[in-house]
This record gives sequence, C-alpha cells and structure tokens, in this order.
Amino acid sequence: MSAVLLANLGVKFWLASRQIRAVARHRASVPAEFAGTIGLDAHQRAADYTVAKLRFGLLDLALGAAVLLGWTLLGGLDALNGWLLSVLGPRPLLQPLALLIAFTVINGLIELPTSLYQTFVIEQRFGFNKMTWPLWLGDMLKSTLVSLAIGVPLAALVLWLMQATGEWWWLWTWGAWMAFSLLMLVIYPTVIAPLFNRFEPLQDESLKERVTQLMARCGFAAKGLFVMDGSRRSAHANAYFTGFGAAKRVVFFDTLLNQLTPPEVEAVLAHELGHFKHRHIVKRIAGMFVMSLAALALLGWLANQPWFYTGLGVTPNLPANLGGAVPNHALALLLFMLVVPLFSFFLSPLMAQLSRKHEFEADAYAASQANAQDLSNALVKLYKDNASTLTPDPLYVRFYYSHPPASERIARMGAQVQAAG
Ligand SMILES: [Zn+2]
Repeated sequence: MSAVLLANLGVKFWLASRQIRAVARHRASVPAEFAGTIGLDAHQRAADYTVAKLRFGLLDLALGAAVLLGWTLLGGLDALNGWLLSVLGPRPLLQPLALLIAFTVINGLIELPTSLYQTFVIEQRFGFNKMTWPLWLGDMLKSTLVSLAIGVPLAALVLWLMQATGEWWWLWTWGAWMAFSLLMLVIYPTVIAPLFNRFEPLQDESLKERVTQLMARCGFAAKGLFVMDGSRRSAHANAYFTGFGAAKRVVFFDTLLNQLTPPEVEAVLAHELGHFKHRHIVKRIAGMFVMSLAALALLGWLANQPWFYTGLGVTPNLPANLGGAVPNHALALLLFMLVVPLFSFFLSPLMAQLSRKHEFEADAYAASQANAQDLSNALVKLYKDNASTLTPDPLYVRFYYSHPPASERIARMGAQVQAAG
C-alpha cells in the first residue's frame, strides 16, 4: 500500500502545483476572450481564491495521508478493534457495529478542523461565507442525528447480511445498497434537504411563465419549481434537479436568481434539461450500480485473504482465539473504504472525461432550446461571482474538472451561435 500511497501523493502534489503555477502565471492580465466581460480585480480575486484553496488542499492531502497511515500501518484500527473486543467481548453484530460507529465518529472529529478552516477562514476571506456559528452548530447537530438515524440501521443490515448470507453476502449487500440508494433519491429532496434549507415555490410570475414554457417545449414535467435559500450559508450560486418520476423538482438557489437575468436563468435551466434529455443522470446511476457491484465482489474476495488484514496493519479476529464468534466484516469494510480511493483515483481522468463530454452535450441542447448567447453570458457571470479561475492547467483539468473550462464551453457555444445565425 505504501507504494500506491506514495504514487498517489506524488501525482496529486504535482497536479496541484501545476495548477497553482498556471493560475499565478496568468494573474497579471485577463485572458483576451474575457477582457470585455471580466475586470482585472475580479480576475485577480479568482486567482487568489483558487490558489488559497489549492494550497490548503495540499496541507489537507498530507494530513489525510497521515491519518490513513495512522489507521492502518501504524495500528489505529487494530487498537480500536482490540479495545472494543475487550470492552464488549466477542459479541457478533454488536462489536462490529460499535467498531463502525466509533471509527466514523473519530474520523469525523479529525476532519472537523479542516472543514472549519475552509468555511470560516478561506470562504470568509473571499466573502463567500454566510454561515454563522449558531447555524453551523445547528447544521452539525442535525446532520449527526440524520446520519445516525440512517447510518446505524443501514450498517446493522449490511453486517447482518455479511454474516447470515454465506459466501454470496456481497451480492445481497449490493442489492440492499442499491435499494437504499434509490430510496435516498426520493427521500433526500423531500425529507432531508428541507431540514437544512427552506424551499419555497418560485414566486416571480414572469420567470415562472418563461420556465414553464421552456419545459413544455422540451417535453419535461416537473412536480414543482422551488427557490432554495442557499444564501443563508454561502454566496455561491447553483441550480439543480432532484428526484425521480413524480418526485422530480427543479431547485434554483436564490443566489442564482439574484445574479442572472430571466433569459439567463432560462438558458441555465435548459442546460440542466439537456442532462435529462441525454439520460446522463440515468447513465450515471447505472454506472454507479456496476462499479459498486465490482467493488463488493472484490471485497467479497479480499475479506477472506489474511494478507489483506495483516498487510494493512490489522490482526484479523481469528476463530481460534475468539471461538469463531466475531467475524472480520467490519474490519474488512473499513480497510476497504480506506484503501480503495488510493486506487480509484487513477480512474479519475476517465470519469472526468465522461462528465465533461456530458456537459458539452447539455450545452448544445441548451443552445438548441434556449439562447446560446444567454448561456454564455450566464456562465461568465457565474465564473466571475464564484471566483472560478479562467486559466486552469490542462493536465489538472484532465484529472479533476467535471466541467470543461469556461473558455472551451464558450468557444463551442460561439460556434453554435454563428451556425444558427
Ligand atoms: Zn451540467
């Protein structure tokens, strides 16, 4: 694992430093194609914001590697497991469940300072943070309760399936996991998201008219148009669709409606409709199903290999010294979750490539159903207001960008405007 971890860190540090240099190199002047729309101060603010986030990302990366080593090779997970065995005894289900919960709580506490620094220092410095301490504490409390209410029964179910369904447990677990994911697609927008934000029906009659016409033109039925009070926490803007079938809804951040004109909002929505028209969402979910099946099949095999545990610094619970009462399921799950990202990172250029292709398709759809010039204008405004860099490093883009750089999207749309005109 050490070699993979090193390769991982090496590539990530290299990419981030390339991105920092690319942004710094272009800080002095606005790229020619944006010279008329973005001022130098906005451009430099974006550069400083991007670099600040990347620098902190490097620190976070080093910290994450140390934590990973702490849990595995340095014996953290082994010690936690041993301690829980001594406190709770080799009780099936209870001890493994306690291990999963204890691990999650400790990891959450370790990551707390990072998230606090991001919100209250970096986002604050650039004027994006609208979060107050009481709001942060309330969020924290609510999300902990929600995760416990959902996570504990789910973890118990998975552990029980692993124990009760024999060597095909990973197939059963996959089935349960898929059912849970589909259920969450319905429950999240209607039950969970409203715990954190207010969703009000879109009031603006003329915008509503415009949006309804667009949706009718595209043959799209949604259950409702909602405005979310995103401005309570952050100045970043967004719009999205959630849900499935009859639970489908369109959500605009209030920040988006404040920043864009109605024709621009229409164009952004047309882009989102493009994702639906091209079935990107369904494809993404199907892809996730296949990947999780492959991952669970791999885990099904790894969980029976003693070297999987010993190689990662954990002594498996051997049937000989525990009377066979405590299986290693929780240990296998945790080790797998810790180590898989190291390997799957090397797949990220593929995933990012696919996602960027989808974005181009959605842009083209938006250009055909709404106005490409409006979408271009909206993109420039969103880049400016979100302080996103206009001058990324091409290799960094390949690994990390789910959306093509602004200049590429606008160039393509420009070509479409010309073709149409
Ligand atoms: Zn998109």
